[in-house]
Amino acid sequence: MLRVVQIVSITEKITRLIRPEIRALESYAVPDAQGLIKLDAMENPYPWPDEIKQAWLKALREVELNRYPDPGARALKRGLHAAMQVPENMGLLLGNGSDELIQIILMALARPDSAVLVPVPTFVMYEMIARAVGMQFIGVPLNDDFSLDVSAMREAMAQHAPAAVFLSYPNNPTGNLFSTTDVEAVLRDAPGLVILDEAYYPFSGKSFMDRIQRYDNLFVLRTLSKQGLAGLRLGMLAGDPLWLDELDKVRLPYNLGSLTQASAQFALTHMEIMRSQAQQICADREKVYKELVAMPGIRVWPSQTNFLLFLTENRDAGDVYDTLRRCGVLVKNLDPSGGVLKGCLRVTIGTPEENTAFVDALRKAL
Ligand code: PMP
Repeated sequence: MLRVVQIVSITEKITRLIRPEIRALESYAVPDAQGLIKLDAMENPYPWPDEIKQAWLKALREVELNRYPDPGARALKRGLHAAMQVPENMGLLLGNGSDELIQIILMALARPDSAVLVPVPTFVMYEMIARAVGMQFIGVPLNDDFSLDVSAMREAMAQHAPAAVFLSYPNNPTGNLFSTTDVEAVLRDAPGLVILDEAYYPFSGKSFMDRIQRYDNLFVLRTLSKQGLAGLRLGMLAGDPLWLDELDKVRLPYNLGSLTQASAQFALTHMEIMRSQAQQICADREKVYKELVAMPGIRVWPSQTNFLLFLTENRDAGDVYDTLRRCGVLVKNLDPSGGVLKGCLRVTIGTPEENTAFVDALRKAL
């Protein structure tokens, strides 16, 4: 009885105190993957070889856990600046995953009448964070071939004057790269910031990094998550130091722990492993792509990432998702998103064995 009274009282307070835009959101859902082949979250399936793991643990032993981390992560920034080929006079801001950097950017820009504009469908966190910080969210549909609808983007930018435009390059969940000409058209006409989110750069090899000096509103966002370090939570934002100094005021002083900083610095000395794993993943992606192209009832799109988007033409995507799960394979069900994603699933490329298990299970599910 006491609990019922408590629930009523808390619900009343939630309605009164929590902002309506937050109440309208749903938390980012992460399904339980225990015991399943996990092909739902664009992780790299390969752990580090044992001798590298041992060397990493040795490096971690030197970390002074009783001390706060370096608030500016200066040594790590220097290493990343060189490794990512950030132009010399441009700067870096580091975040607890690129998610945190998206949040930092939008916290700095948020005003009740300011907007975030993105092509849709795209990575869902742009919308979630925009709404959470109280900004307007404008989604401009992609063309049927998933290219940018530049004239619709121009029109929407003129109408809403967005403070930020996010372009996932390549785009999650469609897997394609937008054309350079289209991105440059957006960059020229955008009245606010343009953030090129290059989370899948390790697989596409295409970047706007060498153009950040040319446009005073351009940022390049990267992450170590897709290269085998999703557990580390490290995102990097490259841009003009004048902008970054402002954004840095919103960043919490110790957002990157000492273990993350030390681990990432260690990882920088082993980039060749991450590069060769990405190459392997791209080669395996092409094998899975060919298998899906040949599968009746499946439409699959080419990809410049470590995942494939596919449509189950004759079967309910939710049923296919459930059957795959029963066969021990977890993919992402995009069907509930609706629109062009109706009937679509997304599979991350795993090890060759995992990919075979997925293809076999999909055949069974059809
Ligand atoms: N951007 C895009 C386009 C993504 O797909 C993802 C992860 N799904 C992220 C950013 C977030 O990555 P991180 O792990 O660095 O927060």
